[in-house]
Amino acid sequence: MIYECAIIGGGPAGLNAALVLGRSRRRTIVFDDDHGRNLVTRESHGFLTRDGIRPEELKRLGREDVAKYDCVDIEPKRIIRINRVTETHYELTTADGSVYHSIKIIIAVGLKEKLPNIPDIEKFYGTSLFSCPYCDGWELQEQPLAVIADKMVFDLAKKVYNWSKDLVVFTNGEGRLEESEKSRLEAKGIIVREERIDGLEGKNGQLSNVRLEDGTLIERSGGFTTPLWTHAADFAKELGCKQNEYGGITTDEYGRTNVWNVYAAGDAAQIVPAQLIIAAGNGSAAAIGVNGDLTNEYFDRE
Ligand SMILES: Cc1cc2nc3c(=O)[nH]c(=O)nc-3n(C[C@H](O)[C@H](O)[C@H](O)COP(=O)(O)OP(=O)(O)OC[C@H]3O[C@@H](n4cnc5c(N)ncnc54)[C@H](O)[C@@H]3O)c2cc1C
Repeated sequence: MIYECAIIGGGPAGLNAALVLGRSRRRTIVFDDDHGRNLVTRESHGFLTRDGIRPEELKRLGREDVAKYDCVDIEPKRIIRINRVTETHYELTTADGSVYHSIKIIIAVGLKEKLPNIPDIEKFYGTSLFSCPYCDGWELQEQPLAVIADKMVFDLAKKVYNWSKDLVVFTNGEGRLEESEKSRLEAKGIIVREERIDGLEGKNGQLSNVRLEDGTLIERSGGFTTPLWTHAADFAKELGCKQNEYGGITTDEYGRTNVWNVYAAGDAAQIVPAQLIIAAGNGSAAAIGVNGDLTNEYFDRE
């Protein structure tokens, strides 16, 4: 069997694409190995009607919506290889060696994150330390916060200041701040610590102190940091998709990439701003692109 569209990734981007393709009566398959980027958190915010929902629950509801359309299959499998085998379609191979065929592909793999190299940081990430103030700033407002950054530290600190004025910026020995930026932060009462961080302290993911290399403890109850982002799978590069300056896959407004029959949606295309509702929205746009193109390709042939 040859599917009309294979969607790689079943996060909000992939599932919303599947929903729209299901409703367009397209034979669709979604592959998802369930490593969504926000699964480290307890709550998701800013998604209209679902503010505060657990990420797993949002995904369960999304799958439930898609399951109403029997032309859509969902496979809990990881795709490891995509080959263009003929002039008509692609061959997709899963980690367990199964092979599937599809005319079109939507890459909705999301991003993987590399946190700054600080001992124990992953124990706090997603509970009291986050990367996106729009997602989690409200819950941390007015608290003593840390801004721990490898890059973009000045911009992040400026942004977080909107939620709390009690800020300590940690550059972790990387010297990422210009002198003028440092003065602008200090003029606002923001403390800047440029020493290397030795570790983070706290219990059950709740931050209580940032420990500097000389042993100084700085009390903080939460904060923000800047992970490095890369695509959760390398298909865009392997297939030859162009990427923008942020590393996102370049698409038109219907998710089309420069590569034949390959579309992209969600964080992998968007990079910033990265939000559940934006990912879902561009999943929908990519599905409309796929269905529109299939319609044009089939109409005079059928
Ligand atoms: C800590 C944290 C908190 C966040 N909080 C919020 C919030 O409160 N509100 C908000 O709007 N946004 C939040 N975000 C951002 C949000 O998680 C992303 O914008 C959103 O998940 C992007 O959706 P996506 O579908 O593009 O990717 P994802 O949700 O990451 O989904 C991609 C899916 O593709 C799968 N996949 C990847 N490669 C393969 C492969 N080769 N084969 C099969 N499956 C594959 C993954 O396992 C995953 O399930 C947060 C992010 C983080 C890190």
